[in-house]
Amino acid sequence: MVRAALWLESEVGEGEIFSKRELREAFPETAQIDRRVRDLRDHGWRIDTNREDPSLRQEEQRYAKRGDEVWLPRRGRTAAKAHLTTAQRSKVLADDDHLCRSCGVAAGDSYEDGVLSAQLDITRRRVSNLDGRVEVQLITECNRCRVGGRGTQADLAKIIHALSLLGPLERQIFARWIRDGARDFNGIEKLWGRYRALPAEARSTVESAVSGPGNSDGKRAR
Ligand SMILES: [Zn+2]
Repeated sequence: MVRAALWLESEVGEGEIFSKRELREAFPETAQIDRRVRDLRDHGWRIDTNREDPSLRQEEQRYAKRGDEVWLPRRGRTAAKAHLTTAQRSKVLADDDHLCRSCGVAAGDSYEDGVLSAQLDITRRRVSNLDGRVEVQLITECNRCRVGGRGTQADLAKIIHALSLLGPLERQIFARWIRDGARDFNGIEKLWGRYRALPAEARSTVESAVSGPGNSDGKRAR
């Protein structure tokens, strides 16, 4: 893995594309060099395939961003993938309601495009806390999301700031989604679906009704 990292740095360069063939030619003696490159994602390296970056061809990958300096022996060891116990895994799965926290798929479900059935796994997510301290937290993710999700860092301050910009009603709705563990479509979104399916004339009737009597003189409320 260290040699793969050094090859990416010295031969490919950050932001550049390499092909699977070039990779194998650089390491003819290493049978699973693809896997060693994938392992770098555990150390914050971003290596995109055409799944994350549709501009890439099937056999191409992009060395998108450098991660930890895995060639430093100490760093390599501390950041190495520590195995979780069965109890730890079960707890994370239970805490996450046995759903992929990125896309919401459950184990064995098919994806929206009908391809593959989902497998859940536990991954590590770097979270920068409100005090700026970065820590690694465990999260449930499906096999598909995991490919793109590695090495990303969640920013709590940004999320909480965005929440603080919501109006009181939106915040209340958001709090209810958190409590229920799901977005409910019973209220405003269901109404939106029904509104959107109306013919144009009916939509404008609804629009004037929403704008209220104060705007009946033709001015439209934003
Ligand atoms: Zn997912």
